[in-house]
Amino acid sequence: MTAIARIETPSLPHETIVMPIEGMNCASCVSRVEKAVAAVSGVASVAVNLATGKATIGLERGVPMQPLLQAVEKAGYTATIETRELDIEGMNCASCVSRVEKALRTVPGVAEASVNLATEKATVRALPGTGQHRLEEAVRAAGYRLRPATAKASGDNAENRRRHEMAGLKLSLALSAALTLPLFLFEMGSHAVPAIHDRIMAGIGMDNYRLLQFVLATLVLFGPGFRFFRKGIPNLFRLAPDMNSLVVLGTSAAWAYSVAATFAPGLFPPGAAHVYYEAAAVIVTLILLGRYLEARAKGRTSQAIRRLIGLQPRTAHVKRGDRFTEIEIADVGLGDIVRIRPGEAIPVDGRVIDGSSYVDQSMITGEPVPVRKSAGGDVVGGTINGTGSFTFEATKIGADTLLARIIGMVEAAQGAKLPIQALVDRVTGWFVPAVILAATLTFAAWLLLGPAPALSHALVNAVAVLIIACPCAMGLATPTSIMVATGRAAELGILFRKGEALQIIRDIDIVALDKTGTLTRGKPELTDLVMADGFDRAMVLRLVASLESRSEHPIAEAILAAARTEGLPLADVAGFQAAPGYGIGGRIEGHEVIVGADRAMVRKGIDVTPFADRAAELGNAGRTPIYAAVDGKLAALLAVADPLKETTAEAVHALHELGLKVAMITGDNRRTAQAIARQLGIDHVIAEVLPEGKVEAVKALQAGGRRVAFVGDGINDAPALSQADIGLAVGTGTDIAIESADVVLMSGDLTAVPKAIAIGKATIRNIRQNLFWAFAYNASLIPVAAGLLYPLNGMLLSPVLAAAAMALSSVFVLANALRLRRFQIEAGTSA
Ligand code: ADP
Ligand code: MG
Repeated sequence: MTAIARIETPSLPHETIVMPIEGMNCASCVSRVEKAVAAVSGVASVAVNLATGKATIGLERGVPMQPLLQAVEKAGYTATIETRELDIEGMNCASCVSRVEKALRTVPGVAEASVNLATEKATVRALPGTGQHRLEEAVRAAGYRLRPATAKASGDNAENRRRHEMAGLKLSLALSAALTLPLFLFEMGSHAVPAIHDRIMAGIGMDNYRLLQFVLATLVLFGPGFRFFRKGIPNLFRLAPDMNSLVVLGTSAAWAYSVAATFAPGLFPPGAAHVYYEAAAVIVTLILLGRYLEARAKGRTSQAIRRLIGLQPRTAHVKRGDRFTEIEIADVGLGDIVRIRPGEAIPVDGRVIDGSSYVDQSMITGEPVPVRKSAGGDVVGGTINGTGSFTFEATKIGADTLLARIIGMVEAAQGAKLPIQALVDRVTGWFVPAVILAATLTFAAWLLLGPAPALSHALVNAVAVLIIACPCAMGLATPTSIMVATGRAAELGILFRKGEALQIIRDIDIVALDKTGTLTRGKPELTDLVMADGFDRAMVLRLVASLESRSEHPIAEAILAAARTEGLPLADVAGFQAAPGYGIGGRIEGHEVIVGADRAMVRKGIDVTPFADRAAELGNAGRTPIYAAVDGKLAALLAVADPLKETTAEAVHALHELGLKVAMITGDNRRTAQAIARQLGIDHVIAEVLPEGKVEAVKALQAGGRRVAFVGDGINDAPALSQADIGLAVGTGTDIAIESADVVLMSGDLTAVPKAIAIGKATIRNIRQNLFWAFAYNASLIPVAAGLLYPLNGMLLSPVLAAAAMALSSVFVLANALRLRRFQIEAGTSA
């Protein structure tokens, strides 16, 4: 362990962080990292330990992590960063988001923090050693609370919290409304009908009437309305006003003015001693109403997730000894034998051993037609059995089941921030202070320039500005749409693993499709077997099939099936070798056998020209020619055909309708690929690509700044999925491909690709509408509230109307986002 640059400056408070670094494997790495880190401003000391692979760094307080990480990256290494989820309590406005984010980022070791207002979650990327209590402290200092993060699907818990919050809000709202109603009725009534005014004056007198109003408004403000003070006042003192602060400023200004007018009217210039009790009370009630509706709608945005969580049954019938007993789902173990009766939900993932049935998998794949399951078939937890019954062996339990992973993916995507959100966050950060400034200016301008009574005009208009400009709907505009859209997409069998994909997928220019298993069913059949002179058909097929029995390739399945139907026994294989993209080879019964594409033969110096014409013919017919050589001599030409999925042609058509170019990338024979492309109307074919070549092919399509979506299924597709601007994995594929995809299509149906694009478009359009209702609409009313129109046409916006407009804008945003729940796609349209 070496330490350089250990500068002690006792006057400055220091923080020590420990940063694990990957990729250091030599002594010179140590000094390289140390130099790079020491050069970052704010670093007081750095010591790298090669054995533990960790850097201990002394930092001045408040030095951000990003430059440190960049320095390490630049030096050629990577710092280990962990992602954590925190549940934040007490956020109810857009400006809270940036405040919590800022607070979390100041914690030493935190590289990045992003907060989602709708899910009330913070995603923190930090060094692994970062103490949870430090995060907790930071959040508390900013005026919020941290709930202990729940590792498991948080549906239940969040649901309870939401109910609790709803109940509290409902009570406050009812109380506030009950107290406000008489105030409102008397006041509005006496404006409308002079007789009412006269009756009140005659009955209890002006002074008593004001006293009664004072009591009611005060109860509203400091009873149900106290929640605004509890949040808004501390934030005001912290010089970080939020939307609660605006409500507090507005209502208490109206209230205080009225109190002064009631008890010390002599302080006011003639005609200015008005009271605005009813305005203060009505504002509180309306804003509570907005909050209540908001909380109700927020609950509905996560409905899709709750529905997914609800799919899993609570118990399972599992074999214990020689009988089946009902046990809790958490107690089901790997390898347990589970019995499923007609109509039951399947508890965990597994493989059928006995019996058969049709299973409704629509809740996972979005495909309505039930799927037949019999011995050897895979079943998925959460799907519903039809009328048959069967037993199966549990192969995935707990958090590993497909359903649990889907829930995790959707939750992660729902917490995502779209690029559009960054802009919104920047705006809301300075919006509230700007509003307070605008209200102050309004007050001053009316006081100096306004007509008599100037003081009361100034007050009313300043309050209207404060109330109309509340940015609470702004914070909801994007996250609610994302939540509803990703949830709805999941119902349609389209999983957005990254929320950002919703925005990026709209801007795609080219959709590149993998052929085998994506365009086609991935279940080829042997269609032709042409023998070279002097070779025996049964003998060659037996040798080829024996070799293929060791391969994972779909082609191998086709050849094995053919050998099986002809009843050919398989032989042992020695020295098996697979060359991805070429073919396979090995020794069988003393013969050297090679099976593969023409290039696999050419590579071994085997002449394929005797079959050239025949191979071209097969290729033109959309079949894949495969050569077999025995002991260095060309023995046979085989052909396999992989039927297209029924929906492929429709999907390609729909993509063309959306104005997109469609390309096909495949390792298959060029002629075969072109024949299939012609059949489907695919614009561009890249054939005979080696597995590593798919990335290059995607890059080539991306040339000139075109944005490419790649759709694939296999293991060898993973790099191409990552390279593409959007990677879509066909869910019937392997786990690896799914992990590197941005979007997972649960059914193999390619029409899901245009559907995913349509959802992306609909979501962004929805967000734009939300931002309009949240921002443009409120902001455009600020000048009206400030009274700018007054000199022209005498128009003013009363604080009560301002409160109604503000509450309405939140409700509008949520109602608009919820429309995405009913998102439907008519096949082939751009929605
Ligand atoms: P794709 O995923 O597009 O089918 P691959 O790279 O998997 O592409 O395969 C490319 C070609 O390599 C196949 O079309 C076939 O000619 C040959 N090949 C690969 N594996 C085998 C195998 N097990 N048996 C015969 N041919 C094979
Ligand atoms: Mg493939």
